[in-house]
Amino acid sequence: MEDLSHWIDGKRVAGQSGRFADVYNPATGEVQARVPLASKAELDDAVARAAKAQIAWGATNPQKRARVMMAAVGLINRDMDKLAEKLSSEHGKTFVDAKGDVQRGLEVIEYCIGAPQLLKGEYTDSAGPGIDMYSMKQPLGVVAGITPFNFPAMIPLWKMGPALACGNAMILKPSERDPSVPLMLAEIFKEAGLPDGVLQVVNGDKDAVDAILDNDTVQAVGFVGSTPIAHYIYSRGCANGKRVQCFGGAKNHMIIMPDADLDQAADALIGAGYGAAGERCMAISVAVPVGDGTADALRERLVPKIEALKVGPWTAGDDVDYGPVVTAAAKENIERLVQTGIDQGAELAVDGRDFKLQGYENGFFVGPHLFDHVTTDMDIYRQEIFGPVLSMVRAKTYDEAIGMAMDHEYGNGTAIFTRDGDTARDFAHRINIGMVGINVPIPVPLAYHTFGGWKKSGFGDLNQHGPDAFKFYTRTKTVTSRWPSGIKEGAAFNFKAMD
Ligand code: NAD
Repeated sequence: MEDLSHWIDGKRVAGQSGRFADVYNPATGEVQARVPLASKAELDDAVARAAKAQIAWGATNPQKRARVMMAAVGLINRDMDKLAEKLSSEHGKTFVDAKGDVQRGLEVIEYCIGAPQLLKGEYTDSAGPGIDMYSMKQPLGVVAGITPFNFPAMIPLWKMGPALACGNAMILKPSERDPSVPLMLAEIFKEAGLPDGVLQVVNGDKDAVDAILDNDTVQAVGFVGSTPIAHYIYSRGCANGKRVQCFGGAKNHMIIMPDADLDQAADALIGAGYGAAGERCMAISVAVPVGDGTADALRERLVPKIEALKVGPWTAGDDVDYGPVVTAAAKENIERLVQTGIDQGAELAVDGRDFKLQGYENGFFVGPHLFDHVTTDMDIYRQEIFGPVLSMVRAKTYDEAIGMAMDHEYGNGTAIFTRDGDTARDFAHRINIGMVGINVPIPVPLAYHTFGGWKKSGFGDLNQHGPDAFKFYTRTKTVTSRWPSGIKEGAAFNFKAMD
């Protein structure tokens, strides 16, 4: 069994704490590696080294930093299959989906090639007599990224790309459940020309996270994961005076209007509800058909499609729609929530509980489920299940449907399926959710826009990637200068207008 490592000062470094976490192959249930869990001392040492390396990196001109990004794009494309295979083997998602995970991260690195343009400051010539004023965007210093298991390539790349392009050093603390791809990405960035120490990958759990939050050198923390941990990290990081943005869990509603193309809506729900075994923060987990006629017609289309879903290991290639969930604990949690759905009176229209895959009896596979007649007081409606379980909540009117999505505590993504422009426009304007799809089930913004949820799905200011990321990872300094110095005004005791 392989012992994984940290990535410190441009090389793999064994853990010193003596603590490890098991990394599983979710398809077989076997432990395939152990990942070291860093102590506070190891984390503090990595930060101190990063702070030294950041001085020269922060002073490197943005065009040179952009060239590192450009080289990394080429190398990630070169290693795409290798990265995706490793990703599938630790996460469980299909190979095609794993490539999508790498691709959506890669697109943010492509965006970061624009760093020289994005980091340009502002200049006012002759703001007063002999006075010029300019603002510059400077790196923060050492920043940290703490990332979840479900996108082990994409989200680390969303963090490291903008942070590094802005001239910061980054401590990346990936999920301990699938830590290999972030280590491979660190190797790639070294090959692309990133100086040693500028990107440190420190593996770990709560001890490492707390050490990040309490380390005075760490200036900013970007987190993605579940809402309780997002809130915890936001509170403790802010209390310690850091700049913090934390993205949390989700319960994404898709509203299906009576005028929608129901075949299109059903296909959208299958992909968005069951893709990646539902382990996406932008998965649709609640379908809200408006009117019983719409609900019945939708259900009629959904049930055979759900029953035909092919569940299996990533190694089975194109024969598989989705793979296992990430751990035995995740599987148990999904099964527990399914039971609460039954106990609380929802109708299990597709029952995936007896799902078994020959030859993979110990894998963490969960069959697809569909609940109908779910009500808003049920646990399966209120909680994030993060599994292949779709809940149908029937609404009588559009207002009831939009009200449901607006009243839910999460606000990551949502979608409406309709042919009516007025309804779609009203929905997009009124809804209190960060990312909205109109006849698009998973409205993940592209790299040059920004990604972020509202309500309990996001804490702090500014979104991920796009222009917001370049704001998050820099601070503005404004300089007022007077040349020549020949202008004599005498001492001034009051603020006054420039003339
Ligand atoms: P998680 O909250 O369990 O873990 C995320 C990170 O926090 C990991 O690096 C983990 O090591 C660390 N962590 C876990 N417990 C901790 C603790 N007690 N103290 C300090 N740190 C701790 O999340 P996950 O299970 O890895 O990921 C799935 C969750 O992430 C889902 O809720 C999903 O919706 C959410 N997610 C959100 C977005 C988004 O952009 N909003 C994107 C992807 C995933």
